[in-house]
Amino acid sequence: EERFKLVVVGGGGVGKSALTIQFIQSYFVSDYDPTIEDSYTKICTVDGKETRDMCISLTQNPCGSCGLSLSLCPPNSYHEVQKFHTQILRVKDRDDFPMVLVGNKADLEQQRVISREDAQAFARENRIHYMEASAKNRYNVDEAFLELVQIIRRF
Ligand code: GDP
Ligand code: MG
Repeated sequence: EERFKLVVVGGGGVGKSALTIQFIQSYFVSDYDPTIEDSYTKICTVDGKETRDMCISLTQNPCGSCGLSLSLCPPNSYHEVQKFHTQILRVKDRDDFPMVLVGNKADLEQQRVISREDAQAFARENRIHYMEASAKNRYNVDEAFLELVQIIRRF
């Protein structure tokens, strides 16, 4: 019986709640409720193996984290992503930690401030997986969480 603790880390407004609620409850929350901390649980099957109690916490605090989310458009900035990443490794006291960098709001291409190339380069440099997603269109939402579970299993 496997238990996972996934943490979605990112600044306010990047879409942590929207991604998680889309993953767990399959709908898009269009209003912004600036809750600082939140948590959800889900049981799902990854690679034919059932995960028990996949606990997902949303936070702006890098303690206990794995998983990193950013918004490809404002309010996020590239600097914020680097800051979170550095904090996570410092808290974990490791050079590597299971993480997926999710570039959310991929549907808002016109408002984009972080280029795909920059995000990919950052992920490559730091040996983390990068995916673009849209909580609104349910694009790469399940994939991002399930990828993280697979990365944790291999860690
Ligand atoms: P959080 O502070 O990180 O939890 O951010 P929220 O999940 O509350 O999202 C902040 C705002 O961005 C909300 O108004 C969401 O509806 C919106 N949002 C989140 N994800 C997406 C997305 O993929 N596309 C678009 N267009 N809006 C999004
Ligand atoms: Mg939230």
